[in-house]
Amino acid sequence: MTVENIAIEVRDLKVHFPTRKKDHPVRALDGVNLLVERGSFHAIVGESGCGKTTLARSIVGLQSATSGSVSIDGRALPDWMKDRKILAKKMQFVFQNPLGALSRRQSVLQSLEEPLLIHRVKGKAERRNRILQLLDYVGLPESSLERLPRSLSGGQRQRVAIARALALEPQILICDEPLSALDVSIQAQIVKLFIDLQRELGLTIVMISHDLAVVREMCTRVTVMYLGKVVEAGETDAIFSHPSHPYTRVLLASVPSPDPRIEAKRQRIILQGDPPSPMDPPSGCHFHTRCPDVMDICRFKPPELEQTKSNSWAACHLEEGQ
Ligand code: SF4
Repeated sequence: MTVENIAIEVRDLKVHFPTRKKDHPVRALDGVNLLVERGSFHAIVGESGCGKTTLARSIVGLQSATSGSVSIDGRALPDWMKDRKILAKKMQFVFQNPLGALSRRQSVLQSLEEPLLIHRVKGKAERRNRILQLLDYVGLPESSLERLPRSLSGGQRQRVAIARALALEPQILICDEPLSALDVSIQAQIVKLFIDLQRELGLTIVMISHDLAVVREMCTRVTVMYLGKVVEAGETDAIFSHPSHPYTRVLLASVPSPDPRIEAKRQRIILQGDPPSPMDPPSGCHFHTRCPDVMDICRFKPPELEQTKSNSWAACHLEEGQ
């Protein structure tokens, strides 16, 4: 990946939330590195509480960092914050619940026109054309313009939220579990919508998700997180066909296969115990208290991300010297 091809760069990012115990902050992110290639569809996956939503919020500046850095198109995020209007044209956030992005009192027309007015897209006709184009992108009819969010289905609301996010022609979308509030039947439509939009508009999309079946269908790259750290990263095909980290193998073992013959042979791996508290993460490898392959070294030495034989990156002592 060349420097020009990097849309988002996250370096050693830490987000610690203070608690009553002075020396025990919640370590939501504990030294995350991430490179997102321009034009890629990049998934961030992991169990609840692994830090993936905090990472998404940090990338768009909704969460401030304890230390480390985030750069968008080579420019540091704090610097971008001086030009928020320009950043809004470059990068937009799609919320888990579309009602979080839409005002209950605004019609679809008003919701889609608002960012155009704020950014002074001049001329009523020009705005109208842009709004009709946005409706077309997300597959909604013109007749939906006068409707309020409460009269729309969950899938239609998410389409409006996506259209609003696209209003300023951003190059980057950061999406926080955009499917999880939707029925399964609607999810498939929104998955197709994201795939089509990414191809047609050449967007860079970062998608936070816990649904690995959806990730396999949509995303070109995957980053796996556990307890505030990246444990594996690489191309989707490599990760799904040859997962290197034991935690990734556990996650993938829970994904049902659409092929009944493969599904019948699927080996389920049950992860022992609950995730440790991010206030008091285990020493060494954070995963050692639940890892089926734990070794002595894992209890005291944190593993570094290293390139694997399948061309992904994994933080696991099993990979060292392979
Ligand atoms: Fe398991 Fe050790 Fe690898 Fe951690 S470093 S994932 S505990 S084998």
